[in-house]
Amino acid sequence: MTYAPDRAAIRIQISVLTAYITHPTCHQHDMGSHHPECPQRLDAINDQLIGDGLDAFVQHHRAPSVTREQLERVHARHYIDEIEAASPTSGIHYVDPDTALNPYSLTAARHAAGAAVLATDLVIGGDCSSAFCAVRPPGHHAMRERAMGFCLFNNVAVGVAHALNAHGLARAAVVDFDVHHGNGTEDIFAGDPRVVMVGTFQYPLYPYSGVEPLGSNMHNVPLSPGSGSDAFREAMTQRCLPALEAHRPEIIFISAGFDAHREDPLANLMLADRDYAWVTAQIGAVAARHARGRIVSSLEGGYALTALGRSAAAHVRVLIDS
Ligand SMILES: [Zn+2]
Repeated sequence: MTYAPDRAAIRIQISVLTAYITHPTCHQHDMGSHHPECPQRLDAINDQLIGDGLDAFVQHHRAPSVTREQLERVHARHYIDEIEAASPTSGIHYVDPDTALNPYSLTAARHAAGAAVLATDLVIGGDCSSAFCAVRPPGHHAMRERAMGFCLFNNVAVGVAHALNAHGLARAAVVDFDVHHGNGTEDIFAGDPRVVMVGTFQYPLYPYSGVEPLGSNMHNVPLSPGSGSDAFREAMTQRCLPALEAHRPEIIFISAGFDAHREDPLANLMLADRDYAWVTAQIGAVAARHARGRIVSSLEGGYALTALGRSAAAHVRVLIDS
């Protein structure tokens, strides 16, 4: 007789509907000991999920590598060639003042983008209703032809293009609540009527874009430094969520950056853990009305390790409960 819990039985009883997708190489991508976009970010999230007891309530998946065809839907061939050629056999090679590759980075970037593809397949196939991709390098600054801001391939954009082109969905949406404007995703989808992107970001702040949207399908809401939870929730409620609702997306992607948190060292938008739970619930409500609950969330920023862990766990908890 034992009182040890039968984890398999628990999983069956609660019908796990949220996928958690990552890959070991995402931990081996390392741009140097002082770089804020560090491997320990993934440990912080994973440890917090275990600490909060959420680990048993997600379906764990290993991210596949993205294919060349999947990447070419959002990046120029010559750009992919350049990133592949920049991959070093030793040491660190910078492709941008903030962005570098070590010998594992190219493989990590391929799996980070592949995670979004698998997540898209899982939620459209009905295996899960939502998915969180705990991956790095992040993606939302990666433009069609340019790496920047710690990003090599635009993971969320690869997922969106996969939903539209491989699965034939008519409408997709991206919600980007990272503290930095998602200029790469905007560059890729501006003017594409199938895609609506909504998001808040601190301005002025890197990459100093977004105030003038590049297309009518871009709903960018700059927020002043120090503006805090109320301003964030008002921007979401008044500007972002109505635009999201009006598009009636069949799937919603989240560029899940947690660097608008008040503890983050790279910005000061002053959000709290509970704001991430709140915004996730709001997005979940739109997804339930239009997208059969389908949400694919992919990690972007978040550099205060404990705040990152708590905020990501709050986000995943709401995905599980949705
Ligand atoms: Zn960021």
